[in-house]
Amino acid sequence: MDKFQEFKNTIGPLRVFENEPLSRHTYFKIGGPARLFFEAKTSEDFRHALTLATKLGIPYVVLGMGANVLVSDNGFDGIVIKNKVDEVKLVGIKGTLGKDGKSIKSAVVWASSGTLMNRLARFTIDEGLEGLEFLLSVPGTVGGGIKINAHFEVEKDEFIGNKLLTATVFDPKTQQIKTYKQDYFEFSYDYSKLQQTREIVLDATFRLDVASNKEALWQVAMNNVKRRNDEQPIGVACSGCIFQNITPQEAIRLQTPHLTTSTGYIIESMGLKGKRIGGAEISPHHANFILNTENATASDVLELIKIIKEKAKEKYDLNLKEEIFLIGNF
Ligand SMILES: Cc1cc2nc3c(=O)[nH]c(=O)nc-3n(C[C@H](O)[C@H](O)[C@H](O)COP(=O)(O)OP(=O)(O)OC[C@H]3O[C@@H](n4cnc5c(N)ncnc54)[C@H](O)[C@@H]3O)c2cc1C
Repeated sequence: MDKFQEFKNTIGPLRVFENEPLSRHTYFKIGGPARLFFEAKTSEDFRHALTLATKLGIPYVVLGMGANVLVSDNGFDGIVIKNKVDEVKLVGIKGTLGKDGKSIKSAVVWASSGTLMNRLARFTIDEGLEGLEFLLSVPGTVGGGIKINAHFEVEKDEFIGNKLLTATVFDPKTQQIKTYKQDYFEFSYDYSKLQQTREIVLDATFRLDVASNKEALWQVAMNNVKRRNDEQPIGVACSGCIFQNITPQEAIRLQTPHLTTSTGYIIESMGLKGKRIGGAEISPHHANFILNTENATASDVLELIKIIKEKAKEKYDLNLKEEIFLIGNF
């Protein structure tokens, strides 16, 4: 039997779709069909699909919310496993409990990797725990967030990886499931080791401190949301920032205003804001965003990416690096 058919039959023919348009599953609203598409709703489903696809030797890719990907117009000739395993809970507290019940110092929160980072943020704030409130309104799942080390204000060291205690991953090479501590992931700006190992995050725990004032946490989180809404384009399909920011050393070399490391500034300074190819446009609001304004194709977006990279090399001797991940053949 054909191995794709075997995957379908084993998981359940009615649960696996053929030729599902991936434009339905990405923030960009771009992407051709997946040969097979399966939505994992429980951790058993997720593990089973990963193990089976690996055993059968079928290429597969895990999709969270599709908030940081550009999918080829030709789609993906394999299985797309969409991770909808969404659960978050408090699993441990550390410290001494005084009579007033207020002296607990820290707690551990567990989340499955398909949990929305937004949900994780809300949960932790509601529990009066600080450290992940910056994730409020960052699109995407915990798994996608760990892979890129999702962040908000880098200068304030607001990275998801900083609060990670452990994560359990599936290794496609050995088909083993292992739990690692934070240092294994080698987190840095826009980076975790998963980008090399291609391991898949199944779930994660985070250690967070107890906040003295829960209302203040909400206030900080809501201020961040407001800032995001002011600075980023709203209501148009896009995939967040296309490029990583430049390094502080490059900012010094280029003497950017206030030594900003913003790649949005770099793109704007090259006069590219508002530049269009087909249905894709460099945002007039924030130049590090490419918008799908009118049925853009992945090729349109890639063409804009190429133009930006070439100009940045020519004008500033910069090698801009994409933040988004590409899926499929380009
Ligand atoms: C409007 C907008 C604003 C944004 N603002 C921010 C921001 O402020 N800060 C920020 O950091 N990011 C931001 N982003 C980017 C995006 O939110 C993050 O990159 C997020 O981590 C993407 O998660 P996801 O689940 O959607 O990943 P996807 O886009 O689905 O996948 C991204 C990559 O991760 C892989 N992946 C997905 N799940 C797993 C898993 N369980 N295990 C291993 N690999 C996995 C995928 O295969 C793919 O390679 C923004 C995006 C948008 C659209």
